[in-house]
Amino acid sequence: MAQQLVYSSKINKIRTFALILVFAGILLMYAGILTKNIEWLMVIFFILGLLMVVFSCVVYVWIGTLSLKAVPVVCPNCDKPTKMLGRVDACMHCKQPLTMDKNLEGEAFDEKYNKRSYAKSQKKR
Ligand SMILES: [Zn+2]
Repeated sequence: MAQQLVYSSKINKIRTFALILVFAGILLMYAGILTKNIEWLMVIFFILGLLMVVFSCVVYVWIGTLSLKAVPVVCPNCDKPTKMLGRVDACMHCKQPLTMDKNLEGEAFDEKYNKRSYAKSQKKR
C-alpha cells in the first residue's frame, strides 16, 4: 500500500518541522542582512527570523515532553526500540505501522484511528 510507505513516525514528523523552522528563521535573518539598507525591512526580517528560531526551540521542548509520554515498544519488524504516540503510529526506523489496539491489528493503516470521532463510532457498534 502506497499510503503506508509515505507515513512516518509522528515524533520524526515534528522533528523535521522544527528543523525546517530553524532554517527558515536563519534564512529570514540572512534576508535581513541583505536588506540592511532598508532599516524597517531589516528589522521585520530579523524579528520574524528570531521568532521562528524561538518557536522551533519551543517545538523541540514539546517533542521532549511528547517522547516522555510516548510508549516505548520494540518494533516487531526491525527489532529496534521505538516510541509510539496515540493508538497507531509508525516505527521510527523502518516505518512499519504499529498499533496499540488489538482490534486494529492487521487492518489497513489509517490516520483516522487516532481521531476521537473514530473511537466513538467504534463504541456505538
Ligand atoms: Zn521498525
